[in-house]
Amino acid sequence: MRIGAALLLTVMSLGLLLRKSFASLSLAFIQATGKTRFLSIFREIRNQAFLSPVSRQRYRTTLLSELFKRAEETTFLGERFEGVRVAAGNTQGDDVFGLLRMLQPIGKGELARRFPEGVLTKDRFDKRSIQNTSGTTGDRLSVVTNFPKRETARASTMYMLDIATNRSLGLALVDIPPNVCNTVCGLEGPPVTGWLELVSKGIKKKELFKPGFRSDANGLFERRVVLRQDVLAPLDARSPSDLLVQLESTWRSLDKLRPELLRAFPQYLLWISQFVLKTKIKPLGLKFAMPYGGLASGSLLEQVRESLGVQTRNAYGTSELGPLAVSCDDQTAMHVNEHLFELEIMREGQSVNDGDVGEIVVTDFTNTAMPLIRYKVGDVGRFVRGECRCGRTTRRIEVLGRLQETIQLEDRWITPASIAEIAYSDRGVGNFRVDEIGANQYELQIAASLNDRLPDVELIKKKFSELFERPIRVSHRIVPYIQPEPNGKFLTCRLRSFRRNG
Ligand SMILES: [Zn+2]
Repeated sequence: MRIGAALLLTVMSLGLLLRKSFASLSLAFIQATGKTRFLSIFREIRNQAFLSPVSRQRYRTTLLSELFKRAEETTFLGERFEGVRVAAGNTQGDDVFGLLRMLQPIGKGELARRFPEGVLTKDRFDKRSIQNTSGTTGDRLSVVTNFPKRETARASTMYMLDIATNRSLGLALVDIPPNVCNTVCGLEGPPVTGWLELVSKGIKKKELFKPGFRSDANGLFERRVVLRQDVLAPLDARSPSDLLVQLESTWRSLDKLRPELLRAFPQYLLWISQFVLKTKIKPLGLKFAMPYGGLASGSLLEQVRESLGVQTRNAYGTSELGPLAVSCDDQTAMHVNEHLFELEIMREGQSVNDGDVGEIVVTDFTNTAMPLIRYKVGDVGRFVRGECRCGRTTRRIEVLGRLQETIQLEDRWITPASIAEIAYSDRGVGNFRVDEIGANQYELQIAASLNDRLPDVELIKKKFSELFERPIRVSHRIVPYIQPEPNGKFLTCRLRSFRRNG
């Protein structure tokens, strides 16, 4: 095994020198010398997207059966299963998806209350690590992952980039997240940044020949060789002049790093686009822009495409689950990674028809340390009907925003995406938020764009009111900037229930 590890390190150093051309070879070598399987998992995921739905379902059934077996070791999920068996008279047999559909979806709060005893399976020395997520409301959930889950998430990231850019290796990528740790730490905690640091940490902890070290090495390898990933500081808008100074510095960094793909918080992508229009600087050799969260509105992405001269790709994932879906071209609909997840759209405990809007409910096939079965992730979306022209046969989803920002009327949901669509189709808007200030009463906060155009406030108000199809009262305020939430994110819609919970 020592020889294997030495070879592994040699290959990594070589890989550093000859990044692009060598990445593929060294990846295969690492897989051959170590126990990691992520390259095979990546290939599996990539191929399955073109399978017939029937053969894919066979594979998914096996994964879900295994997940159920493990989940029965936990008391909380065990109780959920008990209820189902009694109700169904223990006659579900092999229909695991049928069994799945009988379970009530669970939210972050229920999982957090039963953590850790109720929700963890028996530790079979599968290199577990714990990570805390924080939602927009500060709704915290601890999630435990094991080595296979983390490895799968890594493969899944490669797959996501492969669909989006046709390149899974050597892609120069810059990330500008609202909160650095949420993005880069992912499922693995704060990352080490250099090979020397990694090796000395391994020696100090006597972990050089253990799977944990290999996992860290793979992570670093992924960030430096498989990708060439750099992370820039969040844009912290305290005033328009502050913002311009920050944008200048961000632009200088981008100019130096020359990424092919820019992944950023949607609001940042908009600001960068407006900054380019204002300063008339030459766009970089950037090819793709990808907003986080899968919920940038179409009109925002249109501005990004026009001013940066890029194609846009939509991707959806969460820190506790990893990448879930990604778009293959400029459209907002994304291919669901059905090899690893079951996604459902539900309202009041029932699945809705394809095309209808509801809450996104996820079952993660691969995390057997802490099974997330019918987990309400807190987002709203809809399935898109019809096949994609790229030939992939998976379901496609549109993510329309956070549930906490969705205005739920008796007969319809008004999603953050439909509100943002109105705001950002006006090129004079730099940032925007709706505040619910009373019953049927809303205030629009509008910050002007950076490119000196003025928003058509009356038109925005009119279009916003029309979403309700009933009389509402709408006022507005033009503000110099909008205050982000404590986690650095911006809300599209701040509801009164949100303020009570948050
Ligand atoms: Zn497609």
